[in-house]
Amino acid sequence: MKFSEIDIPANILKALEKMGYDEMTPIQEATYPVIFAGQDLCALAETGSGKTAACAIPLIQKVDPALNAIQGLVLVPTRELCMQYVAEIQKIAAHTAVIPYAVYGGFDKKIQMDTIKQGIHILVATPGRLIDLLYEGILSFAQVKCAILDEADELLKVGFLEDIEFIMSCILHEHQTLLFSATMPDDIKKLAHDCLRDPQHISLITERAAPESIEHYFAYVHPKQKHAELIRYLAGEDVNQAIIFCNARHVVDTLFHSIRKDLKDIDYIHAGLFQDKRSSIIRKFRSGRLRYLIASDVAGKGLDFSNVSHVINWNFPRDGEQYTHRTGRTGRMGRKGKAFTFVSKHDLPGLRKLLRSRKITPCWIGKDPLCENNTHQEQKTQRRKSPSRPYPAKGKKKTE
Ligand code: ADP
Ligand code: MG
Repeated sequence: MKFSEIDIPANILKALEKMGYDEMTPIQEATYPVIFAGQDLCALAETGSGKTAACAIPLIQKVDPALNAIQGLVLVPTRELCMQYVAEIQKIAAHTAVIPYAVYGGFDKKIQMDTIKQGIHILVATPGRLIDLLYEGILSFAQVKCAILDEADELLKVGFLEDIEFIMSCILHEHQTLLFSATMPDDIKKLAHDCLRDPQHISLITERAAPESIEHYFAYVHPKQKHAELIRYLAGEDVNQAIIFCNARHVVDTLFHSIRKDLKDIDYIHAGLFQDKRSSIIRKFRSGRLRYLIASDVAGKGLDFSNVSHVINWNFPRDGEQYTHRTGRTGRMGRKGKAFTFVSKHDLPGLRKLLRSRKITPCWIGKDPLCENNTHQEQKTQRRKSPSRPYPAKGKKKTE
């Protein structure tokens, strides 16, 4: 269905047209009537399916700009996501009088407090900074009509959960609550339910399968060979932009310093960097000035990088959820993307689980460690005999 076919005010429609949003995405179409009607909602849809606008459009419609008070509250787990979310609301609300604003850590609190005092309608926030501001006593939730948890599964995990419960307990009156997520592990489902009142459930995730727009490559190599293997893989690919995920900050640092001589236009990001630096790297990556980004999982959730053609898991992800979030940075909005994951011996149990639970058909580059007939010796000879590594033909380099 087209946005113009539903009852959206002309000033929002104009903005959507400018943004090139013509057809609603399936999650937008499915959730719009529920959100608009004021019902609580738990909505699951794969990464890159347009959940931000699904939420932002009806939220903007609900705001009464004449009322100088926070009427919509959006909680997100990371600072980068906070900025991205508010930017989307700003664009959609560009021709309305609705004022969105984002607060997150690492940015001057005084400026944030002053802006809030001047009057804002939609507040997008990371939990930590929001709680700081609640303690400052400058926030009133008395007029909040709608509270949203984006990347809800992350926000309901240990570490965030207490903060979220505290924040939600500060909204004393009846209000609408919306949960959006790409994944919802079973242990989080109950917590999600506790946040909601008589909710609608909308899930467009088919048996938790990975998005079909992504091809899943794996390589079973000795840790010492990973560096050379990665360079070889990337050299044979038509890489537009790639994110290389590592499991820890120090791995990001080490990999960056060892690989920067081999890959041009590369930088790194993790939560140990100052916020200014984090923001500037995200900006550079988004504008295409960087081609490779080595990242910890601060970049693994929700961030929308439309030109990422490849996601590399330098370290095997912790679980299926993390795999989905990381690889979901590519293959967005139906574009094709490739995921490439290094597997070591001790990752094999996790690998089996991942392939099963996400219904992934793996493409092996080199040896398939799960193939029982595939003894090491056979593999070696096979490799020597046929150069059948599934690297696409080299030479099709991107013109820059
Ligand atoms: P999700 O939160 O589901 O991961 P996002 O909200 O970040 O996805 O949206 C993914 C991309 O899709 C963004 O680049 C966004 O601008 C784009 N997008 C969202 N809705 C539409 C639409 N109706 N038409 C075209 N592009 C859209
Ligand atoms: Mg999102």
